[in-house]
Amino acid sequence: MHLHWFRSDLRIHDNTALDAAASQGPVLALYIITPKQWQQHDDAACKVDLWRRQLIELSADLSRLNIPLLIRHCDWWQDIPGVLLDICQQYQIEQVHCNAEYAVNERLRDTAVQQHLQQQHIGFSSYLDQLLFEPGSITTKSGGYFKVFGQFKRVCQQHLYDQLPQILPAPEPQAILPIQSDPVPQQIAGFQPVDPHIVQCWPAGEAHGWQRLDDFADEAITDYAGQRDFPALSGTSQLSPYLSAGIISIRQCLHAALKAANGELFGPDEGINTWITQLLWREFYQHILVGFPQVSRHQPFKQHTAKLAWRQVPDDLQRWQQGQTGFPLIDAAMRQLQQTGWMHNRLRMIVAMFLSKNLLIDWRLGEQWFMQHLIDGDLAANNGGWQWSASTGTDSVPYFRIFNPITQSQKIDPDGTFIRQWLPELAHLDNKSIHAPHLSRSVKAGTLDYPAPMVDLATSRDRAIAAFAALKN
Ligand SMILES: Cc1cc2nc3c(=O)[nH]c(=O)nc-3n(C[C@H](O)[C@H](O)[C@H](O)COP(=O)(O)OP(=O)(O)OC[C@H]3O[C@@H](n4cnc5c(N)ncnc54)[C@H](O)[C@@H]3O)c2cc1C
Repeated sequence: MHLHWFRSDLRIHDNTALDAAASQGPVLALYIITPKQWQQHDDAACKVDLWRRQLIELSADLSRLNIPLLIRHCDWWQDIPGVLLDICQQYQIEQVHCNAEYAVNERLRDTAVQQHLQQQHIGFSSYLDQLLFEPGSITTKSGGYFKVFGQFKRVCQQHLYDQLPQILPAPEPQAILPIQSDPVPQQIAGFQPVDPHIVQCWPAGEAHGWQRLDDFADEAITDYAGQRDFPALSGTSQLSPYLSAGIISIRQCLHAALKAANGELFGPDEGINTWITQLLWREFYQHILVGFPQVSRHQPFKQHTAKLAWRQVPDDLQRWQQGQTGFPLIDAAMRQLQQTGWMHNRLRMIVAMFLSKNLLIDWRLGEQWFMQHLIDGDLAANNGGWQWSASTGTDSVPYFRIFNPITQSQKIDPDGTFIRQWLPELAHLDNKSIHAPHLSRSVKAGTLDYPAPMVDLATSRDRAIAAFAALKN
């Protein structure tokens, strides 16, 4: 008997390890709920709930294939080798299959499991599935990991031209096994119940992921380059929660884009090319995580920025977290995050830069807040995005290029539609005043239930530039 251990690959279609397990014999499936470890990793309650809801769907999908899904609980990953060995011995498992995960703790966990099982002569196989390319296979001429995205992308492109990763079907139903699936819990201990609105925004199930992907590929992908920066439009796929839980696969995304491009990889359609490029950013940050593991240990990629004199200002941090900065676009974005578990990419960059530059607050505090609230929270992408915005990362924004949240607001939300959606207290303002009510002559002082700006943009910008410039000395 073979065991497929599900982690962030909660689907039956195009699942490399599940396919390999099923092709070698009868399969049993396992998921391990590890609440304390997830809390230590700052996994958001809404994300853990999406995993839980997806387990219900997955269990039903697996039952149609006659694959029972066992569910086990242990607090910490260090307990997993023992849990797995018990199952292997109970069900006479000869080999455990899983899809590789790349962060440091994940890799340590898998090495410990492999060693523990090997001592009992039980096989352990880990497969490339989450990514298009094995980390370490896209390298510079001297064999190192790329630090610059453009160069990384060019090599990926060449590999895709040479060999396009294919999509696998779901396994065929197997003969019925005399083993019962375990019930999926109603709630995960230690995580708050999730607002029904968030559940509604992000329904579980592979079919929902495919629907989103198909709709995006049919209706929006060709406009992606022009619309992706406007948060009031549905210009992006909103697939990140599905990709990060593995409800859909990266290959399914790539093939949907290719289909929209009539099979032509990096052809003339700018929208499709830009979207595939974003998929490669996802890939890039995962490779960075493996090549430069210090980034998943709370270290900046650019070591010299570790000395930056961040301000210790918990009250300012709290105003940013709660969407009370007095800058409408920032506050609308932070409230979108709290109320939906998701934030538009452009806004992630703007709020991250505001925290790390204008407020000069350590980017790691923002990274943690995002992780605690994002339904798509992903260590590699989140860390990459934060280090990009804070100018501490590889190929990151130069420290002196700081977004101005008011001009950004005028540019990407010109008529204030996005701000009005999330800040009803400003909804009555005209299209000009809404971006900076405190500067508007048409807004009488003291008439708004909305805070004044918490910093002066010009002086806080200069302060950030000076702090970064001081690192050179
Ligand atoms: C500060 C900051 C934090 C971020 N944290 C996360 C995170 O925790 N999880 C996460 O998935 N993404 C993160 N991102 C990247 C990006 O914002 C989201 O992937 C994107 O907003 C998801 O929306 P979408 O699915 O509509 O993306 P689309 O624009 O439709 O892109 C398609 C897919 O490509 C990937 N992708 C797109 N842009 C990026 C990027 N810049 N970096 C890595 N992958 C990308 C995502 O998987 C996304 O679903 C972060 C970006 C920043 C600036």
